[in-house]
Amino acid sequence: MKIAIMGAGLSGLSCALTLEKQGFTADIFEKREMAGDRFIIAEAMFSMFHTPFDDAVRYLSETHDIHLKPSSNLNKVFVYSKNETSFIDGPLGFTNMRGKHPEAYERQLAEQLKGSIHYNATVTYEDLSKEYTHIVLATGDALDTKKLQPYEVAYKASFKGAIIQGDFMETEAHAFFNNDYAPKGMGYLLPHSNCEATLVLVYPQYPENEKLDKEYLWGKFFQECCRRLDQDFKVVHEYSIKDYRIGKTETPRIGNTFFVGNCWGAITPVFGFGQFESMLTGIYAAQDIAGMGNYEKLVQPLYQSYHDSLTLRRTLEKLDNHQLDLLTKSLNNKLVEELITSKKVDFFKVLSRIIHPLPRKA
Ligand SMILES: Cc1cc2nc3c(=O)[nH]c(=O)nc-3n(C[C@H](O)[C@H](O)[C@H](O)COP(=O)(O)OP(=O)(O)OC[C@H]3O[C@@H](n4cnc5c(N)ncnc54)[C@H](O)[C@@H]3O)c2cc1C
Repeated sequence: MKIAIMGAGLSGLSCALTLEKQGFTADIFEKREMAGDRFIIAEAMFSMFHTPFDDAVRYLSETHDIHLKPSSNLNKVFVYSKNETSFIDGPLGFTNMRGKHPEAYERQLAEQLKGSIHYNATVTYEDLSKEYTHIVLATGDALDTKKLQPYEVAYKASFKGAIIQGDFMETEAHAFFNNDYAPKGMGYLLPHSNCEATLVLVYPQYPENEKLDKEYLWGKFFQECCRRLDQDFKVVHEYSIKDYRIGKTETPRIGNTFFVGNCWGAITPVFGFGQFESMLTGIYAAQDIAGMGNYEKLVQPLYQSYHDSLTLRRTLEKLDNHQLDLLTKSLNNKLVEELITSKKVDFFKVLSRIIHPLPRKA
């Protein structure tokens, strides 16, 4: 068996680590200079989106021997709509760094690997398929999947982000829902430390949104963020991403080619989380290759979560600012907060099944 992994990101490295632990060696090809050779950004993993895996970091460590050190716990998330503010608190999850940051998750994974990674390796699927019996497509790019099979795009997202300086509580995140600057999307602030944070505005590129002035929306969002947190933030670095595809493949595997991470459809559409799902698909593909499981069966619950999450997104997208205010206000209700943060009830799954009673076919 000759195994090639295309991409040393979260899914590719989780796959490589799992294979290594089972005594298999893979050739890992990464087109960049190092793992995490990208702009610095803080990302998050929220337990409420990963039920029944209450604590994703502990689960990866205890069940899969993959060890990650988050930057901070998240104990409070403030939610802002146009005229309302509320918050959810409790052990909500973790923030972590990505990209060129020394503690980026992709770097932490690369450090756990005993074997080496071929960096600056621009390989094509066609070349690899001549030489390898098994290929794991882990490039993080749905367009690579599209060359091999249909990829259903739920929406393409436009991101504008910045690293900002100010005063932050490392355990607190901030989420903004306001169609005036985040049409059918959201803004969020995730701290890196007590003096630096990631600020992101993300919305779907539907035709009506494409006409809007991105810089104007960003300016409005930035002002709103400064106003709500009562600070004058300093921008130290800005970036933007366009055409980031959120969707899923028709099949997780074609012959001995395994589609993992974003190449499979790891991003849950409602709020765009995909780190944990990416790592899980990498692990599952490795388990199949190692003869310990069936990839197609293992990813079924993730397909279902994708559909549930898409149902929620389609519902949220229909809300105007007044309805978003009502929703934000409802978070102040203790019962709603308890349901959302419950470790026993998958609140978002239940909600999506109420909205869309017949489970969509996975
Ligand atoms: C701005 C932004 C914010 C996000 N925030 C969150 C968040 O807060 N929480 C969350 O859970 N998720 C978040 N996500 C989603 C999450 O980052 C992704 O789901 C996850 O990183 C996907 O992992 P992956 O392994 O598929 O791809 P990646 O981790 O991106 O890795 C792909 C790797 O493949 C390499 N590569 C690409 N092409 C080739 C090639 N031809 N040959 C060799 N190597 C190649 C790349 O250089 C890269 O190293 C966010 C995404 C974005 C864009």
